[in-house]
Amino acid sequence: VDDNTQHEMENLQRAFHGFTNMYRLIKRIGEGTFSTVYKAEDLRYDHYDNSWDIEKDSEKWSPPPLKSYPSTNTSSMTMGGSLPDFDQRRRKRKYVAIKKITVTSSPTRILNELELLHDLRNCPSVCPLITAFRSTDQVVAILPYFRHADFRTYFRNMTVSDTAIYLRSLFTALSFVHDRNILHRDIKPTNFLYDPSRRRGVLVDFGLAEREGTDCKSCMCHDDPLLRKSRLRAAHDANGAPHNGYPKQDTRPARRANRAGTRGFRAPEVLFKCTEQTTKIDIWSVGVILLTILSRRFPFFNSADDVEAMIEIATIFGQKRMRSAAQLHGCMFETTIPTIGTTGFSLERIILWSTCRSDTGEELTPDEKTAVSFLYRCLDLDPGRRISAEEALRHEFLRERSV
Ligand code: ADP
Ligand code: MG
Repeated sequence: VDDNTQHEMENLQRAFHGFTNMYRLIKRIGEGTFSTVYKAEDLRYDHYDNSWDIEKDSEKWSPPPLKSYPSTNTSSMTMGGSLPDFDQRRRKRKYVAIKKITVTSSPTRILNELELLHDLRNCPSVCPLITAFRSTDQVVAILPYFRHADFRTYFRNMTVSDTAIYLRSLFTALSFVHDRNILHRDIKPTNFLYDPSRRRGVLVDFGLAEREGTDCKSCMCHDDPLLRKSRLRAAHDANGAPHNGYPKQDTRPARRANRAGTRGFRAPEVLFKCTEQTTKIDIWSVGVILLTILSRRFPFFNSADDVEAMIEIATIFGQKRMRSAAQLHGCMFETTIPTIGTTGFSLERIILWSTCRSDTGEELTPDEKTAVSFLYRCLDLDPGRRISAEEALRHEFLRERSV
């Protein structure tokens, strides 16, 4: 245990009476804007029912120095019960992930995350919440520890079949989440913990998740296409220019929409500030993951802000499709950037390029072609036409593969 972890253990013990009797911190496994996550041994696992026992952790375990054993002070435990003795623990050790939520997070945000996790507790492939503690402004969530590998260490070696199995696991989780009308909003490799050796993954991090339909304004992308066309026509003059669409004369209130998420993974409707976003934004993000795997480039998109992100997407899809995508949400997309062509490039070409196969005249393998046809369904600029998680599981790319 390093000094930092030791120090943290003391902090937690101070905030949560009896903490050292319940958990033994092992190491820090994640640090982000919203939390610090520790791996810990659960010293009182047998006080829970074992329904959260996702899988046994087979990592080599060596007993910690004796002094850190909670041999005394058992009376201070907050939940009662006696501690398992040394031998018992040695046989059935359990690990947890302790997510210490940054104290500057808003209370509503913390509550939202815990509430959604609670709602999703029975979804396979979603990492369940075991319990949570609060001491004044400090909240910690306790989750079963899930062994996983860093995406960057395995994605370049994934075969098309490995990729399909990975996505099947991710879409299984998403189909449950979406079925409960919840948008995850932050789908990316670090939030899908995957173990390539077991070919299993769990979805974590519901810090930005929200229920569908919480937006208070409607967006015309949900209108009937004919109605949308006539509304668009009414908003433009005879030359097709918007009546009040140019910044100088623009009298409209600024558009506001939820734009939370991670750069590079944001769906076009998020960039266009659609005010009625749906679970389809998560599907786009999965598409970005698939594009990353097929092109062997991570991060695939690397924009600093939303405008750059639009430029990156427009470079692939071309001005024409980008313009119609913007119009779906009542936006205009115009650019004079010379590298953005009218029709863009096919995803096949992008993949051949980025895997250095365009000069050799090589083609995609039949397996890759199936993957690309599926990729087009995930990266549809129109959220209304984009594939859903449930449909994805029935797509030939993901179907007939055993996990
Ligand atoms: P943040 O909101 O800070 O991104 P996350 O919930 O995504 O917090 O957790 C951050 C990191 O901690 C993850 O990317 C992962 O590496 C690790 N982690 C989180 N939960 C678990 C878990 N249940 N098992 C193992 N590692 C986890
Ligand atoms: Mg995260």
